Amino acid sequence: MNTNTIHSLNQITISRSALLHNFRLCKELAQGAPLLPLVKADAYGHGLLDCARIFAKEGVAAFGVAEVVEGVRLREAGFTEPIFVLAGVIPQTLETIITYDLTPVVVDKALFPELSRLAGKYQKTVAVHLKLDAGMGRQGILPKDFAQVVEILEQTDHLQLAGVMAHFPMADDPSSDNSSKVLATFTETTDKLDTVQRRKCCLHLANSGGLFYVAGAQLNMVRPGISLYGYYPDGDQGRGNASAPLLQPAMRFSTQVIQVREVPRGHGLGYGHLFTTTRPTTIAVLPVGYEDGYLRILSNRAQVLVNGQRAPVVGRISMNLTLVDVTDVGSVHVGDEVVLLGKQGDAEITADDIATWMETINYEVLCLFGNLNDRKLVD
Ligand SMILES: *Cc1c(COP(=O)(O)O)cnc(C)c1O
Repeated sequence: MNTNTIHSLNQITISRSALLHNFRLCKELAQGAPLLPLVKADAYGHGLLDCARIFAKEGVAAFGVAEVVEGVRLREAGFTEPIFVLAGVIPQTLETIITYDLTPVVVDKALFPELSRLAGKYQKTVAVHLKLDAGMGRQGILPKDFAQVVEILEQTDHLQLAGVMAHFPMADDPSSDNSSKVLATFTETTDKLDTVQRRKCCLHLANSGGLFYVAGAQLNMVRPGISLYGYYPDGDQGRGNASAPLLQPAMRFSTQVIQVREVPRGHGLGYGHLFTTTRPTTIAVLPVGYEDGYLRILSNRAQVLVNGQRAPVVGRISMNLTLVDVTDVGSVHVGDEVVLLGKQGDAEITADDIATWMETINYEVLCLFGNLNDRKLVD
């Protein structure tokens, strides 16, 4: 038997039409600024190459990845767009960056000499995007040092300033005044630099929160991530406040019932007897567990969809097994589809629901589920 044709009972599907819808919605909000879709983390669990192909067809300015290895994957698959490496640009990775024509986001002038030496070796001019710490406080050059760093860059052979970027720390909170301060710091710092004007540098700042909630943050390019995959950076609140058309979640996670059991009242369920039945109960057993990203914290908390209705997870989630109380959702059989994330009939469980049960954010749910399970692109 060819194992390529045998699939896990746990299946992630990614909706092409949802991705397209979200891309077009982001493009509209960008008001003419081109998009740099973030496809790091295997496109937030949605599949790097599939998503990049879909977005590329719609027209992108560039792609954003975290590590060099992801950029190499895109190049080897034939992508010719600029690819921004947002993290892991260190002396050890520079040669790969140059030979694969990746665009380094540089956070420290200490990198210039080695970058210049290697660019010279390959007889290339490297387009550098500098990261300004306009308030994120994570990486980047402080505003007070920025002009000097740009000057050093300009005097370094084989390197050319192509863009300046920064990142919003609180753009997912529309009520915070932090974002307008970051935007002001960014604009003030870049406005006074001749080089930025002379070289017509690409200025970019907006993540999804910036794109959706910060007026005037589009600048020369926008960098949406989570919104392309159908979620608001502020989760349920964002969805609740948004006006139509809404973003469409692209990921669905389903499994199948592997056993249906009748257990009596007072029956302890699973490891630690975290749940004891209080009535004669019908339990559906699912072949999913924490190894699939369905983490233990969801024990006794999560709900799933069976027969188009919500049913509670009962007892401890184990490595490969989860129990669901299906007493109240009609008849259930081995092989029936159970939806952990996404729609079934009129019911829906979103990554925001799951994030609430997991005490985290939708981003983490998508990365976990998408990157730990078999995945297939549909429609
Ligand atoms: C991940 C990332 C983004 C996208 O953020 P979302 O909140 O997912 O839209 C934008 N810019 C940078 C630098 C990032 O690392």
